[in-house]
Amino acid sequence: MSYPYQIRSAEQYQAAYKKSVDHPEEFWSDVASHFQWRKPWDKVLEWDFKKPTIKWFSGAKLNITENCIDRHLEKLGNKPAIIWEPNDPEEYHRVLTYRELYNKVVQFANVLKNNGIRKGDRVCIYMGMVPELAIAVLACARIGAIHSVVFGGFSAQSIADRLQDAKAEFVITCDGAYRGNKEIPLKGVIDDALVQCPFVKRVIVLTRTRTAVSMIKGRDVWWEDEIKKVETQGNPDCAAEEMDAEDMLFILYTSGSTGKPKGVVHTCGGYMVYTNYSFVNVFQYQPGEVFFCTADIGWITGHSYIVYGPLSAGATSLLFEGVPTWPDAGRFWDVVDKHKVNTLYTAPTAIRSLMGFGLGPVEKHDLSSLKVLGTVGEPINEEAWHWYDEHIGKKKCPIVDTWWQTETGGILISNMAGITPGIPSFATLPLPGVQPILVDENGKEVEGNGVSGNLCIKFPWPGMLRTTYGDHERCRQNYFATYDNLYFTGDGCLRDENGNYRITGRVDDVLNVSGHRIGTAEVENAINMHTGVVESAVVGYPHDIKGQGIYAYVIYQGSSDHDDKLVRQDIAQTVARIIGAIAKPDKIQFVSGLPKTRSGKIMRRILRKIAEGETDKLGDTSTLLDPSVVEEIKNGKL
Ligand code: ATP
Ligand code: MG
Repeated sequence: MSYPYQIRSAEQYQAAYKKSVDHPEEFWSDVASHFQWRKPWDKVLEWDFKKPTIKWFSGAKLNITENCIDRHLEKLGNKPAIIWEPNDPEEYHRVLTYRELYNKVVQFANVLKNNGIRKGDRVCIYMGMVPELAIAVLACARIGAIHSVVFGGFSAQSIADRLQDAKAEFVITCDGAYRGNKEIPLKGVIDDALVQCPFVKRVIVLTRTRTAVSMIKGRDVWWEDEIKKVETQGNPDCAAEEMDAEDMLFILYTSGSTGKPKGVVHTCGGYMVYTNYSFVNVFQYQPGEVFFCTADIGWITGHSYIVYGPLSAGATSLLFEGVPTWPDAGRFWDVVDKHKVNTLYTAPTAIRSLMGFGLGPVEKHDLSSLKVLGTVGEPINEEAWHWYDEHIGKKKCPIVDTWWQTETGGILISNMAGITPGIPSFATLPLPGVQPILVDENGKEVEGNGVSGNLCIKFPWPGMLRTTYGDHERCRQNYFATYDNLYFTGDGCLRDENGNYRITGRVDDVLNVSGHRIGTAEVENAINMHTGVVESAVVGYPHDIKGQGIYAYVIYQGSSDHDDKLVRQDIAQTVARIIGAIAKPDKIQFVSGLPKTRSGKIMRRILRKIAEGETDKLGDTSTLLDPSVVEEIKNGKL
């Protein structure tokens, strides 16, 4: 496969960027012409951010799975599409070639049809990270069913909420899932969820852990039995459903760090073009390389950069069932070594936690296959960036700091590996086709460089959300109503003297201390540089004199006989050195853990409530990984 739209130099980046702004329709139709369409589009773009309506490639017909699988069969049929690394390193790994993936997807697509699933039906997928999860996703796309993957760590209540919101009548799950030394009873959780969802007609259950499960007659069927039925029917094919470019491809609920999760809707044509385009450009993927994204397919990162982006590019995508710290903290490095991974794409939270184990687990493995490193999900603090650069990339691998959201479908702001320079803790530059703008509270554009403001995007890109499922008004309110004619990201941002973007945290989390705007990420970055600090989270609280004061929750692992008071002073001094006295935390609370979403993000809104003393108003905590942390913090003292 070749990628004629892959930008290969800084000059090409500049030229492409200019073209994408001056002639966006031409720019995107050039990119889109390298995909397989059943029928070309009538119009490249129609849009109105007020309503909002956004249509890319209208009138075009396609099926995304023909682009992710069928079109590769001739040349890449025997090449690996998916390498699967199981939770337990002793268990044998699996490799699925493009041909094998094709066979499995069409087979399971026929299973879906046999079970009454049709184009437009919503299918909830609640599975562990096994190859069949990717197969289920693609099989839905093959027949035009709308998948809604729910991360296999959510509770029964969270699943019930999502099933009801999506009005999903079909569920695909596993008996159980392995994660580290834990076994998660997925089917049991689904059974609990379905008590509140009598409208669910069919549950297809894959065997993974062989846990005892209850199978309800008429509702629950085994994946393996259904495959056998398809085999005896003797039709090995399943023609791909012809989809309109703007037909729904999937619904995915946001991670819920800022409030109740939103059912973000992506459509077939634009999402396909954008995930592929961003994949080959940001990571500079070259044919034959092994790409390892450590996210779960339950998050947008997994959708876009394990499944659709890599596969539509004919890449080899590594799918890992386990966790970074089991059987030991060297597991990622073991996987990289074993499968000769070329690109590793992970989250700052994972890097920070692995840093805590020192270099021992890293040094045991050969990481020389690595060419490119990436991060996503949160601002990466400088200390973690340098550790990743020195000890994992051995200072030879560009690090791409990719800023994007569930709503954006793919990466919007990032350096391109080896093409445009990376800067620690900066996402740097927008991809060609992306037009960021900073505005002040009143929506007035903040022009020039060396400024900060609220990050918005002023022109559509093909991968953007089209609506929030079943509630278009919520989509308008959330993203398009704050500022006229702009998509509002909810993130605060700084643009330096050279036009590089740095995400400073959620707008709600940008502090205003005595009239100075300070991002929570900036303060955390400085605190984390202090020796002994493992991780920190910063929020604002009402302060009589300053307007807002800075409250820091810090995980500290210094010497056991340390004096808390002195350490607090030292941390404040470190912040003063790095940012300035204005950013010194007013309060520092030592904690043993931070409240995180299941995708590993710090839930600052809960910490803010605690700092404000409103512990009875914590809001929706259903997406929290470990609620007991909140109790500890509430009861902790300064
Ligand atoms: P919710 O919208 O439900 O509160 P969420 O915003 O955490 O959940 P996601 O769509 O998974 O859900 O996360 C997107 C957010 O993650 C961005 O808006 C930004 O705040 C943060 N983010 C992602 N990548 C980066 C990055 N490279 N640098 C800084 N922040 C990032
Ligand atoms: Mg969000």
